[in-house]
Order: sequence, then C-alpha cells, then structure tokens
Amino acid sequence: AAVLEKPQVPSLETARAFAASKHRLFIGGRWVEPLEGRYFASHNPATGNKHADIGEAGQADVDSAVAAARGAMDNPEWSEMKPSLRARLINRLADALEANIDEFAALETLDNGMPVRDAKFFHIPHAIESLRYNAGWATKLNGETIALSGMGTWHAYTLREPVGVVAQIVPWNAPLAMACAKIAPALAAGCAVILKPAEETSLTALRLAQLIEEIGFPAGVFNLLTGFGEPTGAALTAHPGVDKVTFTGSTAVGRLILRAAAGNFKRVTLELGGKTPVIVLPDADPVRAIEGAARAIFTNAGQVCNAGSRLFVHERHFDQVVDGVGKLADAMKLGSGLEADTQMGPVISEVQRDRVRGYVRSGVSDGATLHAGGREIHGDGFFVAPAVLTGTDAEMAVRREEIFGPVLCAMSFADADLDRIAADANASDYGLGAVVWTNDLSTAHKLARKLKAGTVRVNGGGLDPALPFGGFKQSGWGRENGREGIDAYTETKSIAIAL
Ligand code: NAD
Repeated sequence: AAVLEKPQVPSLETARAFAASKHRLFIGGRWVEPLEGRYFASHNPATGNKHADIGEAGQADVDSAVAAARGAMDNPEWSEMKPSLRARLINRLADALEANIDEFAALETLDNGMPVRDAKFFHIPHAIESLRYNAGWATKLNGETIALSGMGTWHAYTLREPVGVVAQIVPWNAPLAMACAKIAPALAAGCAVILKPAEETSLTALRLAQLIEEIGFPAGVFNLLTGFGEPTGAALTAHPGVDKVTFTGSTAVGRLILRAAAGNFKRVTLELGGKTPVIVLPDADPVRAIEGAARAIFTNAGQVCNAGSRLFVHERHFDQVVDGVGKLADAMKLGSGLEADTQMGPVISEVQRDRVRGYVRSGVSDGATLHAGGREIHGDGFFVAPAVLTGTDAEMAVRREEIFGPVLCAMSFADADLDRIAADANASDYGLGAVVWTNDLSTAHKLARKLKAGTVRVNGGGLDPALPFGGFKQSGWGRENGREGIDAYTETKSIAIAL
C-alpha cells in the first residue's frame, strides 16, 4: 500500500509543501507560537509517515483565544456589522475555498486518507455549500411580533442575538466539511468562533484559517487552536469565557463535554455516534438496495457517524442482497486515496485499524459468520478490508457498539409488521439515522414515523446543509444545518413595551 506519486492529482505538491510548513495557532487575527512551545506530529494514514508538525495549544493559548473572541464580540466592527456584509464575507470565503478546491482535496486526502475523488466531489463541495447556505440566513434572522393578552396595550417582539463566543470541536472523519458546517452558521449569526480540529487532521482547518485571514474578517472573529482533546478541547469546554460549545465526536467525549459545560451553563450542541439501521423491505428493488447498502457502510471506510452498520433485509431478498454487498466488499479496491481507482482508503490510525479488526474478530468469536471480506492486509498504512457478518445477535458488541469502520452486520427478517421491524431497528442506544428501501409510498411514511432517528432516508438520499441533522437518544443534543442549525447560535430576547 505504498503511496505512489500521482502527478495527476492536481495541487498535490502545493498540498505537500503546505503540510511540511510550520503550523502555528491562529489567535486574534495573527499566527502565534503555542505559548508552551509544543508541537505534535501528524501522520499520513496511507503510509504511517509523519507529514506535519502542528502547534499544540495549552491553557494559556485557550485563555488568549477566548480573550480575542470576546474582544471581537465587543468590537462594533463585528457586533454592529450589517448582516449583508457578514453574508458577503462568508460568501467570499466560499469562493476562496472553491478557487482552491484541488489543493484542499489533496490536503484532505493526505491527512485523512479518503479517496481524493470523495474529497473533491463531496467533502470540499459540502463545506462550500454550508458556507453559502448559511450566508443566506445572515439577513433573515428575524424575530417575531407577539400579541400579548395581559392588561394594557403592548408592543412585544423578539430579537435573535448571537450567543457569543463559541468553541467548536470537530472529529477527523470529515475534517473540513464538519468544520465549515459549524463555522458557517456561527459567523452568519454574528458569533465569534474558536475552532479545535481533531489532532489527527488539522491541515485543512489551518489552510482555511489562511483564507479567513486574507478575506478580512475582523481580528478575533475566527480563532484556530490545534491540539488534543486533553488539554486543548477540555480547557475550551470548561472555560467560563465560552458561551456555547458545539461538538461532533464520540458519545463518550460528548458526556465529558456536557459535564464540563455545566460550570457556566454553556449552550451545548452535540453530534455523536450512531448505529444506523438500513431496512430492505420485501417490495424494494434488491439491486438498488445492494448498491445503497454497500455505499452506506463502506463510504469513508465506514468512518461515518451515520454509517449504515446494521442491515435488516426481508428474507425474500436476504441471500441476494447479502451476497451482492459481500461481492462488492470483496472486490473493493483499497489503496492510497491518491490513486485514481481507489475505492476505499485507509482508516485514520493504527489504533483505529486495530480496533476495527478487533471488532471483526470479536464478532466471529461470539459466534457470527464472516460472510465476506475481512481479509488481513499487510504492509504500510492503516488499511482494513471491508467485512460483512451474518448470524449476529442483538447482544453482541458488533451489533450494539459503534465500530466506525467498514463492518456490516446483516440480519434477515420474515415479518411484514412495521412495528416489529421498527422495534428491531430501534433496539440501539443510538438514534442518528435510519435508511428504508421500499417502493411503497405508504409504507415509507409509516415506517419513517416509527423509527427513532434524527434523519430517515428512503431509497438513498444524502446530507444537505438545509436539512436538519442530529440524533435522538445517545446520538446527540440539538440539530445542525437548516434553520434549526443557525437558531442554535442565537439567543432569543423578548422585548415588551407598554404603549
Ligand atoms: P472523539 O470524541 O475522540 O474526538 C472528537 C474531537 O473531540 C477531537 O477534536 C478530540 O480532540 C476532541 N476531544 C477528545 N476528548 C476531549 C475532551 N475531553 N474535551 C474536549 N474535546 C475532546 O471522536 P473521534 O474518534 O475523533 O471521532 C469519531 C466519533 O465521532 C464517532 O463516534 C462518530 O460517530 C462521531 N461523529 C459524529 C458525527 C455526527 O454528526 N453525529 C459526525 C462525525 C463523527
């Protein structure tokens, strides 16, 4: 799995040169050394080789970023900026990102491992769309006029004000897309941001900060602190000068964040793990379901919060669908994301690779059958072959826990009773997503209502900055995207005037 030099990946050399440059922190509109002078190594997951040195923010840097962000909130240049100008700045950032899309795609692939095609045609465009979509809301954050029923005559209305200083903590599986999905509504609402990317994937956030600097947001409106969960993320979450924390990551860390945020009752939005069920009903088109089910679990090497990791197939189609998905798994071309024909890149790290392989082994030792895939891959880079398990039961760890890798548990059902189908799909601590394959309109709507999931997709469909996204149960708090997503960066103020 050696990385080949691929001159046909545009901007690869520019991206490599950027990775190799020194990466400081971006605070108050300036690039600064971490105060404790510490840097950490970041690795290319396709080779395991170090490719960047990244500044590590400590408590003093967190204090300084919070002070800079507070300063921006107190600066009329930002707090009184016309919404249309905020929108213009955000749109300019989207344009700058688009103008550099090849470099961002190459950087994302070097840092995260994803196929460069996915970076260029899905991840970076999604980041751009999040910026443009939310820029549109900046001029539409209106309150309401409220009719009061008490004594007297009143003029009462609400205002939507920015919540203030926002700490944004993102994971490594979709680094830029996730960062922009958070930055865009925060800036559109007039907040000041401190972004902490995942320690594994800081590069696209660092390059984005350069674009933000060039575009001319007022100093302190956007700050970038690279570093680890502990101490950087934890210090941000506990900081009394932070008004809101928004986090995407594991459910376990989400719990820590909630506790830390309680100190000053920060507003909290959490996008956490998932164990998405994919349900193939008897009337579904099995050929389309095969492709859809494979995409749902194997995209991004299964490192997707919404990955369709539990496949429930009606017995009429079970053999065909599971064999079909298994064949796709076996035929999948693994390799460096820089290769044009790579279908699946490496997982993010050695730890993640060993974790995913451990789950496959534990499934088999618990009595499941490795129906397809799961071959051992030797050599450099953190590669895991996709795997399809059958014969699992609901108590096994592979069925209950989020694996965050290309591992699918396939189950058959004989039932036509939607309540029982929903009960099996809902038998999880998570409730992020669900996918239904059916050609019956009424069944689709009925089942969608019974599923305990933040997003139900029928016959495919995707993620969109306009569509609220988030989890039921232990998959999170609140929603990102759509109107709800930007409202979460505002406080409602009620004003009542006795006339
Ligand atoms: P993680 O929770 O370990 O880390 C996520 C981020 O939190 C990183 O930036 C990390 O540095 C930081 N962090 C770690 N400990 C912290 C602490 N104590 N205080 C503050 N910050 C801390 O998650 P991960 O392994 O990087 O990412 C995978 C997880 O993310 C999966 O569980 C996945 O489901 C979830 N995820 C959810 C969504 C969603 O939208 N629901 C999207 C993508 C990923």
